[in-house]
Amino acid sequence: MSESKKTEKIVGVKGMNDVLPADAPLWELFENTVQSVLKSYGFQQIRTPIVEPTALFARGLGAVTDIVEKEMYSFTDSMNGDQLTLRPESTAGVVRAALEHNLTYDGPKRLWYAGPMFRHERPQRGRYRQFHQVGAEAIGFAGPDIDAELIMLCQRLWDDLGLEGIRLEINSIGDAEERKRHRDDLIAYFEQHREQLDADAQRRLYSNPLRILDTKNPTMQELVNAAPKLLDYLGEESRAHFEGVQRILRSSNIPFTINPRLVRGMDYYNRTVFEWITDQLGSQGTVCGGGRYDPLVEMFGGKPTPSCGFAIGVERLLELMKASGEQFPPSQCDVYLVHQGEAAQLEAFVVGERLRDAGLDVVMHCATAAGAGSFKSQMKRADASGAAFAVIIGEDEIASGTASVKLMRAAEGEANQHSVAIDSVVEFLVEQIVGGHDHDHDHEHVHYKH
Ligand code: ATP
Ligand code: MG
Repeated sequence: MSESKKTEKIVGVKGMNDVLPADAPLWELFENTVQSVLKSYGFQQIRTPIVEPTALFARGLGAVTDIVEKEMYSFTDSMNGDQLTLRPESTAGVVRAALEHNLTYDGPKRLWYAGPMFRHERPQRGRYRQFHQVGAEAIGFAGPDIDAELIMLCQRLWDDLGLEGIRLEINSIGDAEERKRHRDDLIAYFEQHREQLDADAQRRLYSNPLRILDTKNPTMQELVNAAPKLLDYLGEESRAHFEGVQRILRSSNIPFTINPRLVRGMDYYNRTVFEWITDQLGSQGTVCGGGRYDPLVEMFGGKPTPSCGFAIGVERLLELMKASGEQFPPSQCDVYLVHQGEAAQLEAFVVGERLRDAGLDVVMHCATAAGAGSFKSQMKRADASGAAFAVIIGEDEIASGTASVKLMRAAEGEANQHSVAIDSVVEFLVEQIVGGHDHDHDHEHVHYKH
């Protein structure tokens, strides 16, 4: 390798994003809200591996889905020849884990997960190759009640996040038998209008004609609008289930529209399917998709276990949160520790630990390549840190057993520097904070240890 090559910058993988510190508060707020909403409905978290056997997705998602056809990061483990895939979604992994560990032995389970997913798509706004999902899987529930509860949970999440204008579309895609009858008629219909089908639709005509209904091609809209509707093929049980879902949504004041063309990508879905959609994100407007997948556990070799779930696209939802105009400022520390000389820094380390014991967030000034830095340059750092206080320990302070506490945001005319006995620094700062010298700071976490 040539010298110039060695020092060339390596950049990240296309379509895979870094979440930088400036965005971290937004992610944290989202994650905390999600956790508390899911907990409030009795869901328990499950964490499954990012890598699964390729066969899991090939079998679970169906061979003719977009994901399995062209989006999977699959590879051979060169150490042992195993066929592996970076998970493109989590339902298959969660169901595998539930089955492997017999999680439903004592009844149905409400589970949730969060984490990165991988799909080899064309990167664009709202569509990445590594993206994140938060999802819920209710495993072992048969009725329309859980379908409605999952939808209700999403509504609460949007409300708690302060998001408006996310609309709900629902549909029922019936069971395999009903879809088969519809499929036959659908193929016949499209065969009659073959000249209007685009290449994608031609390709899917016999493999997955239902997916043609999902086309985003504007020139095919009229054709798919007039196609036979799966809803008209539902038997009595499927219809009753769908009506049950609607009844609960109506009485719980959750607005929805029925979209007879809503089908969802994966093969394992049946009956209820739903999507949450916004118009604020351009063409990548679906922020959450879900539905019932009664056949999946059996497809993986388990006992019949009716189930239902959803997945939220985190990046799209965060973009919505940003668009709402709310600010998500980075958290700032309470105290910046400034020191001159080795003895002073040793003392500052001790003071810093005591402050943290009391619940304060503390940043120690540490040396850079330019050294520990002058008093002036340390104070500059203290200022830039956003800390409410600087605790300054220099040679004079060491000699007198004190520290100087500087109020970085003192009002005009207010004394802004205090000499405090080293042993009283914690007490002094807690008093300052509780006493209101630091109104705009969130100090619920200060607790007294003495
Ligand atoms: P689309 O039709 O947009 O490709 P999908 O049907 O493939 O969506 P699902 O598999 O249902 O999507 O995933 C659930 C949610 O995850 C989507 O509604 C979306 O918000 C998000 N999502 C899916 N793929 C991506 C991606 N490549 N980048 C970012 N978010 C994604
Ligand atoms: Mg997709």
